[in-house]
Amino acid sequence: MWIMSIFEPKKETASREEIRQIQLERLQATLTRTYRHVPYYRDLFDSVSLLPEDISNRRDLTRLPCTSRADLLVHQPYGLFAVTLHEVLRLHPAAGAGGPVVVGYTRNDIAYWSEMSARALSAAGVNKEDVIQLSLDYSQSASAIGAQSGAEVLGSSVLPCSDLAPERQAEIMRNFRATVLVATPSQAIQLGHVLRNMGPGTMTLRIAFIVGEVWSDSLRKEIEEALQVRAFGSYGLSEMAVPGLASECEEHNGLHIAEDHVLAEIIDPLTGESLPYGEYGELVLTTLTREAVPLLRYRTGDLTTLHESECACGRTLARMEPAHARADDVVIVGGVRLSPAQIKEVIHAIAPELPFSAEVNARDGQDRLDIMIGIGKKYFRDETRWMEQLRWRLEAAINKHLGIRAVVYLVEPDYIKEKPLLSDNR
Ligand SMILES: [Zn+2]
Repeated sequence: MWIMSIFEPKKETASREEIRQIQLERLQATLTRTYRHVPYYRDLFDSVSLLPEDISNRRDLTRLPCTSRADLLVHQPYGLFAVTLHEVLRLHPAAGAGGPVVVGYTRNDIAYWSEMSARALSAAGVNKEDVIQLSLDYSQSASAIGAQSGAEVLGSSVLPCSDLAPERQAEIMRNFRATVLVATPSQAIQLGHVLRNMGPGTMTLRIAFIVGEVWSDSLRKEIEEALQVRAFGSYGLSEMAVPGLASECEEHNGLHIAEDHVLAEIIDPLTGESLPYGEYGELVLTTLTREAVPLLRYRTGDLTTLHESECACGRTLARMEPAHARADDVVIVGGVRLSPAQIKEVIHAIAPELPFSAEVNARDGQDRLDIMIGIGKKYFRDETRWMEQLRWRLEAAINKHLGIRAVVYLVEPDYIKEKPLLSDNR
């Protein structure tokens, strides 16, 4: 039987009202601390003539301008620290656009982060009887040590394997009877192939806890098939905490956000305007418990939708849909906001798995979307009429679902191999 337990039931199943209350109390403390100790934030408050005490609800918070990764880069390495270095126990580089930024953790930061990570593992069904094989690279990001600390809080046995070749990892998995794999999607799938090539053997693995890269239902199925396990996705941000910021429960209907540690908002990525829950936009997070590097209204760059409705697992923490696209990828065509994920959804509803590359071009003073679709052997037909029909159906579907005039070209898959999913040529 699949036993799922809620690691911190009091926090994870509190009423929405209680959650909001905890968030406001912690927000107030965070705002005061950052105003006092981080000159960058004090200047930001001053720039809009705002004081921490002026912010008494979520709406007030939106008066404060957002912080972006570019701001972190400007103030490297320690410009955004709210504590002195002697209070910092760990320093991790957070990789990303423009180069890595340094993130520090105090003793309390590490304790909270470990709890968040334990909560995420527990939601996936991991318990203290488990032997957790950890494939994540300790030097690449903080996720390996984050997952390890979470596992230790749970009381599971951790088996670090990051530097080992997949063949060696597969042997260890069988010999040590690992029951949980913590890995990236590509590591998990590769390990699945190696295990299959090794031939029959005892397998005790039951859970794959996936960290990093974009999460989707099809990816989950691929991992579950490759390893014959149940797979769970998680969302983390190396600038805050990874894993543990948000993670899947057994219902697989979005990722529960650790709302007692972060306050989540959705904004329009192009105008910065705050959007209600349920709308699609860029995820913006404010840390509520971080001491070393508190971040206010931090733009994650990830596009998602947030839901507050009740989840069948019993948790009341809001859920985010897996983030399939980045805010940087959004373009406006004929007044319509468009992301590669939206185009992909429409195309794949008609022709699953076909590769595509879309370009926004200006033709005769009008914006037009040109979509090249790679037609491999599977879809290739001799009859021109069939190809014409496919083209027509795709153009009609894009017009209907996205409200944009598109011209579809069927091309050799190699032609679009290196091209971006969506580019703006205007
Ligand atoms: Zn749930």
